Amino acid sequence: MDKLQALEQYFGYTSFRPGQETIVDALLSGQDVLAVMPTGAGKSLCFQLPALLLGGLTLVISPLISLMKDQVEALGQNGISAVCLHSQMEEKERTAAWELLRRGRCRLLYIAPERLESASFCSWIQRHPPKLVCVDEAHCVSQWGQDFRPGYLKIRPFLDTLPACPVGAFTATATAQVRQDVVQLLGLRQPVTVSTGFDRPNLYFEVRRPAHKWEELRKLLQPRRDVTGIVYCSTRSQVDDVAGRLKQAGFSAAAYHAGMEAQYRRQAQEKFSRDEVRVMVATNAFGMGIDKSNIRYVIHYNMPGDLESYYQEAGRAGRDGGEADCILLFGQSDVMTQRILLSKDRENETLPPKEAEQVKQRSLYRLQKMRNYCLTDRCLRQVLLEYFGEQAPEKCDHCSSCLSGAVPVEFTSQAQMFLCCALRTGQRFGSSLLISVLRGSRSQQVLERGLETQSTYGMWRQLEPSLAQRLVQKLEEQGYIRFTQGEYPVVKVTRKAKPLLAGKEKLFLALPKQETQPLPVRKDGLDEVSRRLFEQLRLRRRELAGAAGVPPYVVFSDATLQQMARQRPVSREQMRKIPGVGAVKLERYGDAFLEVIRTFQQQRYRKGNQTESKGVR
Ligand code: ADP
Ligand code: MG
Repeated sequence: MDKLQALEQYFGYTSFRPGQETIVDALLSGQDVLAVMPTGAGKSLCFQLPALLLGGLTLVISPLISLMKDQVEALGQNGISAVCLHSQMEEKERTAAWELLRRGRCRLLYIAPERLESASFCSWIQRHPPKLVCVDEAHCVSQWGQDFRPGYLKIRPFLDTLPACPVGAFTATATAQVRQDVVQLLGLRQPVTVSTGFDRPNLYFEVRRPAHKWEELRKLLQPRRDVTGIVYCSTRSQVDDVAGRLKQAGFSAAAYHAGMEAQYRRQAQEKFSRDEVRVMVATNAFGMGIDKSNIRYVIHYNMPGDLESYYQEAGRAGRDGGEADCILLFGQSDVMTQRILLSKDRENETLPPKEAEQVKQRSLYRLQKMRNYCLTDRCLRQVLLEYFGEQAPEKCDHCSSCLSGAVPVEFTSQAQMFLCCALRTGQRFGSSLLISVLRGSRSQQVLERGLETQSTYGMWRQLEPSLAQRLVQKLEEQGYIRFTQGEYPVVKVTRKAKPLLAGKEKLFLALPKQETQPLPVRKDGLDEVSRRLFEQLRLRRRELAGAAGVPPYVVFSDATLQQMARQRPVSREQMRKIPGVGAVKLERYGDAFLEVIRTFQQQRYRKGNQTESKGVR
């Protein structure tokens, strides 16, 4: 069987997505691979397909049990024999897994890196060497990433004990530094490197700066009651608070954070995964383990500490390629919260002073960039992609900056006031103190330094605080000012500011014509009739998934069901053409869904006849 046949037969797809074929080819020809592809790009298929074609055993190292279980279940549904070995397995399951492995019936074996510490496991695998080894979430090997796992450092010495075989490393988040670490620490040999770019065109990005976050959240969730999504908060207490309020307001919500007992956390995750709970309110502890493909929105109730975290968390939306929304609710106190979290992190670290200082500087720098994202009037996608080192057009037409219908409003004189204020106070202060002076604050910090006597004191009284911040941010973006490094960044006026001060240049902020209208909830392109059918297909899917003991999206993805709803296949041949319907799934579930479609069409036909005959009478 060649790779395209296998793709069609086992996965039900007729074509590769960008990057996939190159990776599959490289692994099949025995080369190492480093693949950096965004969430939802389809990385798993890149090693699952070679695993099938190579025969023998492919070993997959994955950081989390939930990830392994998900993939093993999904493979099983496609008729591919795969098992995992992990610490939470029951004796019976373990025996069954080993039985399959010993009989050589198993194509893919998933393990966590900690399994490599087991001498008996290592000796078994040395006697039964794999054809291919894949490391999923490979960034976990790097201390530079947020998800460092010491166990990943055991992989390289382990690989050295095996006969040579291709090694594939897969990740969604990798800065240059992390990439280098992955290659080096996993010992990849001249890997074929595939990077498909970070853009996720199906994701819509938006930043809101609401006065009342809870009210805003409720407004946002109201029209999203029937779809699943995540609300991320910075702290555990906030998670409990928001989840509680949502439940009280009649939403189907669950909470998830590291302070909860493992058992309750697991329950919450299972329910979410099985579509029994619609909205998950969580800290960033609800992370990598989520492979759920039909998440339609990710709302950040608070600003995270850096754009890496933000993009990773937001990126959990729309893995199935369908439209999804990533909305961040920014509030002034978010920056403070992040600073506190950062200093707590630092207390827990035991680094030598010099390195600790470096880490601190880097974190503060990343925090600054994150804050800029929340305040900018530039295209949000462009800001994100630039941060990850990619070129992007000035407008994406799919983010709140591009779609707000904002118009440029001149703020030249206000900008000059700020620059004067900074210059006349000797460029010694940070932006919040300068803003306080300009807004005429009588705070202790202002008064004890005698800053109320400044000529610019109170000149910004009319300017809203959030607008004041955006103005300062704009000045930095345009290079008129810069901030010094360190915990308390000080504003310095640059040489570029001269023409602005002299009135030869102007400064504009893009402001929405009116308060941002809530954008319409994204539709999936289904018309009224298809939507009704889609709902029925979903119901059927839930029954089938419940009976099989797997999450619904493992049976068929939302995208696949939507295609069925649109095309309404009536025969097995037609059903087989729906993307995502492979041979095994057709056999297993095809008739059940054909039945739903048939009944639906008959009812429509009957109803149609009735209304027609009424019309005749
Ligand atoms: P990643 O690990 O890169 O985040 P996954 O491997 O979980 O992504 O795949 C995301 C989704 O994309 C899955 O639902 C998968 O079935 C789907 N997918 C993968 N490859 C293809 C393809 N060639 N055509 C259509 N859908 C695909
Ligand atoms: Mg993955």
